[in-house]
Amino acid sequence: MFKVKKPCNNCPFLKNSPMKLHKDRLPEIVEHLDDDGFFPCHKTIDYKEQMNEETGQVTEDLEKNQFCAGAITYLEKHNRPNTPLQVFQRIGRYDPEDYLKHKDKVIDSLEERSIW
Ligand code: SF4
Repeated sequence: MFKVKKPCNNCPFLKNSPMKLHKDRLPEIVEHLDDDGFFPCHKTIDYKEQMNEETGQVTEDLEKNQFCAGAITYLEKHNRPNTPLQVFQRIGRYDPEDYLKHKDKVIDSLEERSIW
């Protein structure tokens, strides 16, 4: 779940990210994270295997799917790791320092990316 340790170049949480999202999408992702949600890195999702064709929902696979490094960096930068991050840190499977070294590249507030 924590193998991706660096936000990729088009991470939506990066300052000056080239990624275009609907203006409501990033706040929705952050709300999900703040509700103790997991935000899987889309590069690690097997859409053939994990996508329910009827609902369009992706089933999470915590072994295969990695937590988006940009999302983690954003949470840690703002000093509000969600419960899963806190639990995995406690059991020694997650180290916020791996992500905090990228914090200067990550947005300071959602307003920075509100006009897309
Ligand atoms: S979801 Fe994956 S590819 Fe996309 S920004 Fe996050 S780590 Fe990078």
